[in-house]
Amino acid sequence: MYTLPGISLDPCADMTSVQPKAGTELPLSGLTRDGWSNADEATATCSCGAIQMVLPIKAPGLVNTFVCHCSDCRNWSASVFATNLTTLDSHTRFVRGEDHLVLFSQSETISKHRRMTNAFCKLCGTLMYRQGAVGPGTRFMRGGPIDDHELHNTILKPQWEIFTEHRASWIPAVPGARQEIGMGDFDKQ
Ligand SMILES: [Zn+2]
Ligand SMILES: [Zn+2]
Repeated sequence: MYTLPGISLDPCADMTSVQPKAGTELPLSGLTRDGWSNADEATATCSCGAIQMVLPIKAPGLVNTFVCHCSDCRNWSASVFATNLTTLDSHTRFVRGEDHLVLFSQSETISKHRRMTNAFCKLCGTLMYRQGAVGPGTRFMRGGPIDDHELHNTILKPQWEIFTEHRASWIPAVPGARQEIGMGDFDKQ
C-alpha cells in the first residue's frame, strides 16, 4: 500500500474543486461522449467506447498520482512518459466492456523484474491500466483515457515522478512533484 506522508489528496488552495461534468461539457476524444465526473469519481473510456471504467479521484480509493518515465512506460504508452493514478481495486469498477480487455503480461519489467500485466481494449488498443506484483490490490490506471481532462490540472496533478533518469531532456520536472531515481521511495511506503 502506498501512502503519502505530507502530501494531501484533497483539493489544495491552488486546485479548484471538482464540478460535476458530463456529455458535451467534456472534450471530444474517441467515439463516445458519455463520460462524466463528479467530486468523488470520474470515468475513463477507451477510444472506441467499448470499455468504460469509473475511478476514484479522492482518498482512500485514489492512492496517488504519478508520472513514470521508465522504458516500459515509454513503450506501452507509445509516448515518452506515462501519466498514472494508483487506485484501489475495491474502489475501481467497470461500467461496461470488461470482456473487451486483452491482458498482456511481462516479467522482464524495468523494476526488479516484477511481473506486470497490461490491460488493453481489444478493439481500439487503448491501454486502460497496468497491474502487477508491485502493488497488490491496486492498479495503475492510465491518465489519458480519463474523460474529464481538466482533472489533470487540478486534483489529479502528478504528486510523484519516477524513473526520472529516463526523462526526455526537453521535459521539465512537474512543479511540486516528488522526484525519484528509479522507483525511489515510491514503493517503500
Ligand atoms: Zn476500445
Ligand atoms: Zn513506468
